[in-house]
Amino acid sequence: VLSPLVVAPGSPAELAKRDPRDLAGLEGKSAAKKQRAELVDRLSKLHTRLFAESSRSVLLVLQGLDASGKDGVIRAVFTGVNPQGVRVVSFRAPTETERAHDYLWRVHAALPVRGEIGIFNRSHYEDVVAVRMHQLAPEDVWRRRPGHIREWERMLADEGTTLVKVFLHVSKDEQRKRFQERVDDPEKRWKFRKADLDVHERYDEYVAAWDEVIGETSTEWAPWHVVPADRNWVKSTAVATLLAEALERLDPRLPEPETGIEGMVVA
Ligand code: AMP
Ligand code: MG
Repeated sequence: VLSPLVVAPGSPAELAKRDPRDLAGLEGKSAAKKQRAELVDRLSKLHTRLFAESSRSVLLVLQGLDASGKDGVIRAVFTGVNPQGVRVVSFRAPTETERAHDYLWRVHAALPVRGEIGIFNRSHYEDVVAVRMHQLAPEDVWRRRPGHIREWERMLADEGTTLVKVFLHVSKDEQRKRFQERVDDPEKRWKFRKADLDVHERYDEYVAAWDEVIGETSTEWAPWHVVPADRNWVKSTAVATLLAEALERLDPRLPEPETGIEGMVVA
């Protein structure tokens, strides 16, 4: 059983009060690993039913500061899930064409179709936070976006998309360690940019910006979860649990076969 990771709708996220080293109710690394293997198996079975049912979809919105481990979570949680039926989209700074449209245009186009699990590695929330941090638009522009996002997500929920929104909460010290590792390890160096140093320096500002937008957009129809991210085994087990729970609540059903098939002999 996971300790409450959800941000109650209408409540502040209070990231400062949530410990990135928390175990989220898990007992230890080896137990969690075993648990995760079972969860991945459950996910795979539920996903097969979701795909067969083909009437609803699930969207994992994965956010977190640089080096919070978004890529690692995707690898750990979706290993074992049929790639056909999963749609992963990584959002980077918008291209010229994307910037010629409203900010939700590219996001809307990237949504999973019925039967799929979508994974957003970063998301429309960057249109609030990245835009704010890098001053890409005036304040009044990004200030009104959480309001649009709430309503847009309500439409998605009404139309059959279950959103699982996760913020991977990494500490400043763990972020420093991971950046250092990226610098030191030639296999990881490609992931590091000098601009990441600026991100690290402004850690508190980033957390404050996330704190605000999470509080504004945790809703009944699309609540946020804050997952402690300093330990890889905690975050991947936690995210696998949240997804499995969401799918279990949906309880997807296999479609009814045509009548007269049962007992047929295929000659
Ligand atoms: P990475 O995930 O390391 O490949 O980095 C992607 C970069 O794209 C990050 O620095 C994000 O802040 C940036 N990014 C993603 N979405 C947006 C957006 N909507 N507006 C501005 N920057 C963005
Ligand atoms: Mg990066």
